[in-house]
Amino acid sequence: MNRKKILVTGGAGFIGSHLCERLLNEGNEVICLDNYFTGSKDNVIHLLDNPYFELIRHDVVHPFHIDVDEIYNLACPASPVHYQYNPIKTIKTSVMGAINMLGLAKRVKAKILQASTSEVYGDPNVHPQPEAYWGNVNPIGIRSCYDEGKRCAETLFMDYHRQNGVRIKIVRIFNTYGPRMNPEDGRVVSNFIVQALKGEDITIYGDGMQTRSFQYVDDMVEAMVRMMGSDESFTGPVNTGNPGEFTMLELANLVLELTGSKSKLIFCPLPSDDPKQRRPDISLAKEKLGWEPKVQLRDGLVKTIGYFDNVLKNS
Ligand code: NAD
Ligand code: UDP
Repeated sequence: MNRKKILVTGGAGFIGSHLCERLLNEGNEVICLDNYFTGSKDNVIHLLDNPYFELIRHDVVHPFHIDVDEIYNLACPASPVHYQYNPIKTIKTSVMGAINMLGLAKRVKAKILQASTSEVYGDPNVHPQPEAYWGNVNPIGIRSCYDEGKRCAETLFMDYHRQNGVRIKIVRIFNTYGPRMNPEDGRVVSNFIVQALKGEDITIYGDGMQTRSFQYVDDMVEAMVRMMGSDESFTGPVNTGNPGEFTMLELANLVLELTGSKSKLIFCPLPSDDPKQRRPDISLAKEKLGWEPKVQLRDGLVKTIGYFDNVLKNS
């Protein structure tokens, strides 16, 4: 069979671990690279028995040499709490990580996919967001280390493609959730579920009227794999997200309903530069990848709540 050798950076993280699993299930050889900043060996421990899986501790700000056919570049903390913990390291990870992985792709002639983000649209004044929208990003705010790092990575991907003919793919991922998020991750879905299950107050930032679109991880992984396999002339960027749009108050109430929790909602200060609204226009993904998300928020939350319930009972 045609077993591809695939490198996944950030493979021990939330999305990365699901991606590694999927690629192995398809009969590929997977090399997972991670520095365990926000990821964990626990996320991939069930894959360690597979002879076609390798786990390597490595920081992508340093060059890495290996002969592979494809690279998925996911290494980067994704939760505002974690990417703001050491903002200089975050921007180094995005920018130097992209340079190192693109250099590798160029040398070994691998195809490379970048996990970009809806944060490239910043606090958008076009709604919903199509790929052609250039965004509204504060270049000097507390989120810039992540937003501008990811924007610069997109620039690097396009320039390596134009200048060196590297085969690239860029996906702009909208808020994704599911099992294997870290209970301490700090993002809204995991926070609300963990708080509800523990009977703690649900922390609504601001008035809770800001919106997000939540995509279940299986849908995201499907989009990434389709993008990697898509026609070579299609580089993206392409949005992947679920166009359902919810306020944080709606999300909190849904989590309370599904957990049966009696937790109270409390209102906390809104972090600066927090985008007011976000929803993907996924026409391009539908057209080019024949993809659209299948999992409704309610169904995805039920699965995720089951996961966290188990984690909390065993901790
Ligand atoms: P995550 O924090 O669970 O995963 C990131 C992984 O990268 C972790 O395993 C972490 O240890 C690793 N990492 C961080 N810095 C590294 C470095 N310097 N060297 C090597 N490894 C490093 O987050 P996630 O949600 O799984 O996100 C994965 C990717 O998808 C990230 O690039 C993120 O920006 C992107 N993304 C995610 C979302 C989302 O909603 N989950 C949305 C947009 C984009
Ligand atoms: N949020 C919230 N309570 C929390 C965590 C987050 O109300 O405990 C809000 C946050 O202010 C933002 C939205 O939920 O408006 C999504 O936040 P998250 O950190 O998950 O992702 P991002 O802001 O990067 O989309």
